[in-house]
Amino acid sequence: MATKDFYPAKKINTFYPPQRTLMGPGPSDTHPRVLSAMARPTLGHLDPVFTEMMEEMKTLLRYSFQTNNLLTFPVSGPGSVGMEMCFVNMVNPGDKVIVCRNGVFGGRMIENVQRCGGTAVVVEDKWGEPVDPQKVEDALKQNPDAKIVAFVHAETSTGVLSDARTLCEIARRYNCMTIVDTVTSLGGSPILTDEWKIDAIYSGSQKCLSCPPGLSPVSFSERVVDLVKNRQRKVQSWFMDLNLQLGYWGTSRTYHHTAPTNALYALHESLFMLYEEGLEHSWARHQRNHQALKAGLETMGIEFVVAEKYRLPQLNAVHVPAGVDEKEVRRRLLADYSLEIGAGLGDFAGKVWRFGLMGYSSKIENVMLCLSALESVFSDMGKKSDLGAAEAAAHKSYAANPLPLPQQMSLPLHGK
Ligand SMILES: *Cc1c(COP(=O)(O)O)cnc(C)c1O
Repeated sequence: MATKDFYPAKKINTFYPPQRTLMGPGPSDTHPRVLSAMARPTLGHLDPVFTEMMEEMKTLLRYSFQTNNLLTFPVSGPGSVGMEMCFVNMVNPGDKVIVCRNGVFGGRMIENVQRCGGTAVVVEDKWGEPVDPQKVEDALKQNPDAKIVAFVHAETSTGVLSDARTLCEIARRYNCMTIVDTVTSLGGSPILTDEWKIDAIYSGSQKCLSCPPGLSPVSFSERVVDLVKNRQRKVQSWFMDLNLQLGYWGTSRTYHHTAPTNALYALHESLFMLYEEGLEHSWARHQRNHQALKAGLETMGIEFVVAEKYRLPQLNAVHVPAGVDEKEVRRRLLADYSLEIGAGLGDFAGKVWRFGLMGYSSKIENVMLCLSALESVFSDMGKKSDLGAAEAAAHKSYAANPLPLPQQMSLPLHGK
């Protein structure tokens, strides 16, 4: 290869990203407080000041997940690493796992089970529909040797919320453990890990936590801890082996890997902000902004993909109106309004838009900007558009749904 191929004509300079408004499926906007926390001095990952912060982080995570699980911490890696950590530790070769698939992420769970040498029994539901508890129960009846039930609580590819409480209750009745993906639900929709008796739960920093991507909060029940401690064979992944991770996030604080200290400051700040706001308030805020966006979009004749009772407030999947060049709309929103919305994935590619209202992105300014920008772009592209009508509808929705006062849940005591 000629040398010049290694040196592009453009002069390399400091990278200054543009200021965007992120209303796609994640990442969502990072809160300025979280960004500034990240810019604080780097500490050694075994510094006592840092390890004290780690303890607070575990407490804040227990609050966010509503659990008393001792084994609750952020994995160094994106949501996909949290997902993989659950499967590599809990699935042994030959194990049967019931996996529910109603979108992209259920498909990844199947892939994980198979790579661990397990057998995935797939419970299929249509894209845009929740996991059907009856089908899960039928699969468990037909597969009495199944060990685990895995499903996605909030399917980001379709905007559907499944009934985690009922699914976990069924799994328990058939003596199965549960692995639950809450990457998009944590902070945006109610999750009651202990009350629902979830065994393994994972999430991501960049969706409803107003934090940059790259960390994956996880929490495991005592049943999982016993299972992993008593494994016959070593976990095939050195990095994700819970027994080893425990050495660092537990009390002994032995070096495992260099924790991403500054990224963890960011997560600490974002979880602290969630605690200050109160989980219930955050859930209500996500719902209220969703209602307003919905009122505006419906005024524009845009229809939702998901039936109302299963809709995620933080991920609004809608049908692209007939005759609209969906790609060109997204291009103009980004170029002219610095506004990012999500395209459809998989079965929904080219047919669906996904409007994220997650974490710090779930706010009035974003709803209003999005509606007004969309009306203008439609109008510029020659689609009949009643300029201002969508914002008026959103305004009415806001006026009719005042936000309750912040009310904190109690913070569980420090674990060991
Ligand atoms: C985003 C997402 C993931 C993957 O998270 P990454 O941080 O991209 O690895 C997994 N599950 C769901 C439901 C998600 O929305």
